Amino acid sequence: MKYVLVIGDGMSDDSIEALGGKTPLEALTLPNFGVLAGSETGTCRTVPEGVPAGSDTAILNIFGYDPRLCYTGRSVLEAAGVGVTLRPGEVSMRVNLCAVEEIGGQLVIHSHNGSGIEGDEAETLMRDLLADERFAAVAERAGLTIHVSRTFRHIGVFAGPVPEDAVFHTTEPHNVLEQPVARHFPTGAMAEEITALMRVSYEVLRSHPVNQAREARGLLPANMIWPWGAGRAMLLPDFTKKYGRRGTVISAVPLVWGIAELAGLKHPLVEGATGELDTNYTGKVEAALAALKAGDDFAAIHVEAPDEMTHAGDLPAKLEAIRRLDAQVIAPLLERLPALGDFRILLLSDHKTLMATRTHDGKPVPYAIYDSRCPGRPSRLDEATAARGRWMPEGCAIMGRLLEANA
Ligand SMILES: [Zn+2]
Repeated sequence: MKYVLVIGDGMSDDSIEALGGKTPLEALTLPNFGVLAGSETGTCRTVPEGVPAGSDTAILNIFGYDPRLCYTGRSVLEAAGVGVTLRPGEVSMRVNLCAVEEIGGQLVIHSHNGSGIEGDEAETLMRDLLADERFAAVAERAGLTIHVSRTFRHIGVFAGPVPEDAVFHTTEPHNVLEQPVARHFPTGAMAEEITALMRVSYEVLRSHPVNQAREARGLLPANMIWPWGAGRAMLLPDFTKKYGRRGTVISAVPLVWGIAELAGLKHPLVEGATGELDTNYTGKVEAALAALKAGDDFAAIHVEAPDEMTHAGDLPAKLEAIRRLDAQVIAPLLERLPALGDFRILLLSDHKTLMATRTHDGKPVPYAIYDSRCPGRPSRLDEATAARGRWMPEGCAIMGRLLEANA
């Protein structure tokens, strides 16, 4: 028996006026989703009540790890996804490269990602920042090491030991755009150290040649670091011990790799998997099928595009992302899995992402579990149909249901 989980990130939504009061899943014709819904469909609370709705909490729950018990912060998962494992007593943070500007004597944040800085420019800025004596001195006092990437996202680790009861209060930079930076400096644990790091980073980066060149090209500079999202070491029970199945997770995003890593699952890189609408759907399916063929019992495919398109406020692109998931992921799975024997597929949205607000929402989502031994009559996978099916109040039970395991 082979088991496949497909997550269409943020594809579920509320009713939308432009779609005649339907949700995207209700409005679209999705024949392959319909096949999956033939065996079983229902509604699942993937985000427990009182827990913030995000891919981190929702996907942990879908993998059977109740975020109310195990979640310590998003940055820990992202760190694990790029090979940085926290030791007890250490605290990690996401470190963004931001664009700020001095306006009327105070710094104002224009972009939470240095207007999408990446590649050599991002790496050079960060390497030169870390090599700068002024910054190095402040970082050393704070016990901070930064793991540099080639994007605007970097991972900071405070070596500590940071006291167990220390509470960090930082602000997510994407939530305070066009506001004065000083209003959002951290409070709580290590506030002074983190604020000093931010201030010194601006002194070092403001006139860096990379930023001068960006400004000459009409781009925003990436001239300040912004640490946020503190988290401590997270231990997850081993997936294979928990469920008796070996597996592989296919995704484009470090957060999901991190969940896989901490769960003891493989997470190979797929070329062209971008997390955007033009992601390499075929490559992801091939990677999952190859893992199953090589002996894995379980494969997960995570597709970020519907969520990103919703954050961008682009309804046609959200619809297209869902159509491609149906035609380029589910269709080839249904066609090729029979060659490997009997199989079950769970398809769901990790959480809703709402066109109305362009942000995540924690209300329950529709799911389908297909079983090749009892395919049933094709139906629909959408919010309205699922509401008449099974009700799963505990999202962390759904993996056990897919795997026919008592967990
Ligand atoms: Zn998500």
